[in-house]
Amino acid sequence: MANYDYDLFVIGAGSGGVRAARLAAMSGAKVGVAEEHRVGGTCVIRGCVPKKFMVYASEFAHNAEIAQGYGWSASQATFDWKTFLDAKDREIARLSGIYVTNLSNAGAEIVHAKARLKDAHTVELEGKGSVTAGKILIATGGRPWKPTDFAGAEHIITSEEAFHLAELPKSIMIAGGGYIAVEFAGIFNGLGVDTTLVYRGANILRGFDDNIRAHVTEEMTKRGVKIVLGSEHASIEKTATGYRSNMSSGSAIETDLVMFATGRKPYTDGLGLQAAGVKLNEAGAVAVDKFSKTNVDNIWAVGDVTDRINLTPVAIREGAAFAQTEFYDTPTSFDHDMVASAVFSQPPVGSVGLSEADARHQHGKVDIYLSRFRPMKTTFYGGEERCMIKLVVEAASQKVLGCHVVGPDAPEIIQMAAIALKMGVTKPQWDSTCAVHPTLAEELVTMREKYAPQELGATA
Ligand code: NDP
Repeated sequence: MANYDYDLFVIGAGSGGVRAARLAAMSGAKVGVAEEHRVGGTCVIRGCVPKKFMVYASEFAHNAEIAQGYGWSASQATFDWKTFLDAKDREIARLSGIYVTNLSNAGAEIVHAKARLKDAHTVELEGKGSVTAGKILIATGGRPWKPTDFAGAEHIITSEEAFHLAELPKSIMIAGGGYIAVEFAGIFNGLGVDTTLVYRGANILRGFDDNIRAHVTEEMTKRGVKIVLGSEHASIEKTATGYRSNMSSGSAIETDLVMFATGRKPYTDGLGLQAAGVKLNEAGAVAVDKFSKTNVDNIWAVGDVTDRINLTPVAIREGAAFAQTEFYDTPTSFDHDMVASAVFSQPPVGSVGLSEADARHQHGKVDIYLSRFRPMKTTFYGGEERCMIKLVVEAASQKVLGCHVVGPDAPEIIQMAAIALKMGVTKPQWDSTCAVHPTLAEELVTMREKYAPQELGATA
């Protein structure tokens, strides 16, 4: 067998790469990891984690309103963006440091350099020479994508810049209707920024259940986000104070800032995949089999660069499965079925399994259970926010195919529901679970009447 510098060389120290590197190193393998930015990847440095801090920060204004209904009064609360940013950056630095420590403690070596494959066993590290490895794992993640095909597109920022704005704008337009657009619309709106969300389709959050999508739109609107549907940018012009977005409909919207959250693309630029013979699929992602192996026998890829399900916990499980298979002699593939996810919109969404439309398409007849209500916290102070809970059940087998929640703590609730759905729970088993009272989640196990659409009236 050839002698290599490393048993495994990982390109990218994000969630998937770090998990694979740590596990492999703990098996006694000699492991190297290259990272061109900071250790931690999108999730820790410029994604899930800082985003969630921003969500927490932005929820305070609404919570203060609720608190008044509960008898609190306080003098005018103020928010300082700079103080928040400093605290956020300190916490991100601490978390990145933990990733570095964990890698080092496991015995993996970190090289701070951009890596490029020279051939299937050789990795060139910019400014630091080349290394060879028996096995190579590509875990470079994704990067925001924004259109460039209209005048003024150069003025657009993405989520990358949104985490580091020198100051909060007074107004912002966010284009897109996916996770990032919806989450940042809630964040900016909560922080007092006049926020307009512009989406090209008929309703935001394509791929989620239709009732849930309509409900989130309605609730976000109640909280003050202006949502413009069926509209696209024709051009952007710089003005004295900000930008004018000229829309394809002929209308124009002026804001201090324009942010696009129009998807992310696998990050394969300059990776030397061609030199190593690694194939991409039609979407430009590294093509892999169920063991995350590429077409080249000693090269694997995990996480967003493979564009399967682009979520941190999925990348971690793919990385762990790779390490189990290759370094612990235990062939393991991650099952991508029934992966729950949460949108940290305001109110947030938790979802696992199939939407009603997908369930009807794949399973034929389904029973729907749906509840839309004002939670007790809201009724007390006379608020108007409503929650929505929806179950999609296969009619013949009574298997629960989908569970969808919009409301406070929906992401926490859905994690538990995902266990039951992953185990193949049926509606009678679900119903045999006794409620926890008084909670929002108890509604999940007390829905007995099948839903008929007219119950929701025109709002659903
Ligand atoms: P998404 O793929 O979720 O959404 C992209 C949005 O941009 C869609 O609404 C899409 O419209 C729209 N769009 C695409 N191209 C254009 C265009 N040319 N002009 C106008 N609109 C356009 O991407 P995000 O960037 O929001 O997030 C990327 C991924 O990151 C997510 O899919 C998710 O996997 C992950 N993520 C997960 C989070 C979580 O777990 N909470 C949080 C943030 C990100 P259309 O629907 O019509 O295609």
